[in-house]
Amino acid sequence: MPLEDYKKKRNFKKTNEPEEDKGKDIEKDIFVIQKHDASKLHYDFRIRINDVLKSWAIPKGPSLNPENKRLAIPTEDHPLDYANFEGIIPEDNYGAGEVIIWDRGTYKNNTLKDGERVNIEKAHNKGHITIELNGEKLKGGFSLIKMHQKDKWLLIKKNDEYADREQNILEEKPESVVSNKTIEELKNK
Ligand code: MN
Repeated sequence: MPLEDYKKKRNFKKTNEPEEDKGKDIEKDIFVIQKHDASKLHYDFRIRINDVLKSWAIPKGPSLNPENKRLAIPTEDHPLDYANFEGIIPEDNYGAGEVIIWDRGTYKNNTLKDGERVNIEKAHNKGHITIELNGEKLKGGFSLIKMHQKDKWLLIKKNDEYADREQNILEEKPESVVSNKTIEELKNK
């Protein structure tokens, strides 16, 4: 059953995260990165594959520096509507804490194998995804590569015109692309 893990973990009487997916009209190939101050601060990286958001938790967040390989831990599939979720998950709930939409946009699948294009679902199953992001903050190529150890992936910026070895985009642009709020502003609301 799709989204079974997602639903099992949450009590929708208590959290205002989306329960059912009404997002079928959401533009096709979307990605979203949510900054989530749960028990540990992390960034949730999600891309649409078929009718769910495939998800990874990235403890250190994305980097524009191709030399930084950022650990990405797969988490349960989320409904498409989750791409619009920003707010506070109440105490004693799964993932309790503040969530902002740190970046959002569309992606293009550029995964190749032996010079042939690989569709995104197959790329995900094989553990090797190359995508071009067109977000408000993140642009250009990124790879998501599954490690030999189970359940560990790496997110790596491609060395293209959008790579930047100096800029710390997480510090320079901490705010939501939807509300302009930071996690701290949500806390003090
Ligand atoms: Mn999270």
